[in-house]
Amino acid sequence: MLNQLTISNLAAKLAKREASAREAVQSCLDQIARVDGRVGAFLSADPADAFKQADAADRALAEGTTHAQKPLLGVPIAIKDVIAVKDQPLSCASRILQKYVSPYDATVVEKLRAAGAIVFGRLNMDEFAMGSSTENSAFGPTKNPWDTSRIPGGSSGGSAAAVAADECIGSLGSDTGGSIRQPAALCGCVGFKPTYGRVSRYGLVAFASSLDQIGPLTKDVRDTATLLEVISGLDNRDSTSVPQPVPRYATIIGEGIKGLKLGLPKEYLVGGIDPDVNNAVRIAVAQLQKLGAEIQEISLPHTDCAVATYYIVATAEASANLARFDGIRYGLRVDGTDPIELYAKTRGTGFGAEVKRRIILGTYVLSSGYHDAYYLRAQKVRTLIQQDFLKAFEHVDAIVTPTTPTAAFTIGEKSGDPLQMYLSDIFTISCNLAGICGISLPCGFTTSTPKLPIGLQLLGKPFGEETILKLAHAYEQSTGWHREKPRL
Ligand code: GLN
Repeated sequence: MLNQLTISNLAAKLAKREASAREAVQSCLDQIARVDGRVGAFLSADPADAFKQADAADRALAEGTTHAQKPLLGVPIAIKDVIAVKDQPLSCASRILQKYVSPYDATVVEKLRAAGAIVFGRLNMDEFAMGSSTENSAFGPTKNPWDTSRIPGGSSGGSAAAVAADECIGSLGSDTGGSIRQPAALCGCVGFKPTYGRVSRYGLVAFASSLDQIGPLTKDVRDTATLLEVISGLDNRDSTSVPQPVPRYATIIGEGIKGLKLGLPKEYLVGGIDPDVNNAVRIAVAQLQKLGAEIQEISLPHTDCAVATYYIVATAEASANLARFDGIRYGLRVDGTDPIELYAKTRGTGFGAEVKRRIILGTYVLSSGYHDAYYLRAQKVRTLIQQDFLKAFEHVDAIVTPTTPTAAFTIGEKSGDPLQMYLSDIFTISCNLAGICGISLPCGFTTSTPKLPIGLQLLGKPFGEETILKLAHAYEQSTGWHREKPRL
């Protein structure tokens, strides 16, 4: 079935004219109709628009356009509902933007279209990307395809579940503190957080602007390399995007990994990690060693400050970014007798509990009298965390860790305890604070019934994407965990 294919396999079939782009779209829509009532990955899909794009792709294929020219020609890619797609809803899974339709394409979407992709579907997420379980969506949770009583991770839970359930060929998510890698790990797919500045944020609704990056979620590492290559690069509409040339990731991944030095941070494999996760990661490290990587222990001494630092920096930035949702310019408006009452009623009705919690926290840490004690100090600790990584990268080419301390937890298990929820991102957050790149890929399953996927995280130097892609590809090809599928 076409919906089950990877990007590279579908592209090969389309190129040989063994299948059409229209059939690929139909196959994804059929799977959505069959499983999404149970998974809940999609907030909406627009079949008419998808078929229009598919027909254009089929015409281009008939006229001889190749995948060397347009690597995603005819491939359906679904998008997290925080990334702008022209004339499609952009709700951020929030009531405040429930009826909002984007007037323009994000840069990454323009790039997908230029590469021939069929951009379809709006994927569920935690409201404004705040969360680790997709339970904070105003429109209901997404479920984990491996066990629908469990969460898929978050905030890009819809992006990960849709890929794992074969409802699309690949997807885009966003990662501010782990929101691509953590759901990828919990749903058993590959997820990539690029170096800060690698991918344009133009058209991504801002959560914490100094941490946010867009990245791919896919069925294998090759597809991640292909998507990353398409969406990367300088964009004059995002002043933080960087004028670094984009390597040919999809070609480089095949190179060997012999002699690459891999650091194992002693602060990461500690108490609180599920024994199955610990075991799977240790076996994965041994496998990487067998493939020629050299393993050495390293130290990231400020690891235990990462979660606290993140929840100051991220909430401070969120409180400023979300000020624009005031009932005047975008989305929902609840009238009041004066502007202040209008703002209060609109925001009070429009935002969910977690978003309000973050805005209040962020406003507090920035307020006069507390700014120096919290925000300023957090910025200093952020620099120390960044220096930990830069020092480690003087000795190693990449760092290997679990992506999450446990496999997917059950729906409702942590939603009443924000602190427990925040701690589930303990291994992914530092990467965003340091601005480096990271990938999560499948490295095994729990021993429970039903079995649940476990993720391995590889962290790379700033703009060292190709090194972790090579390591991930070599590991994946030698193990084959990515081929396992949930039964739905
Ligand atoms: N789970 C983290 C949070 O709740 C990270 C979210 C993200 O990366 N967008 O903020």
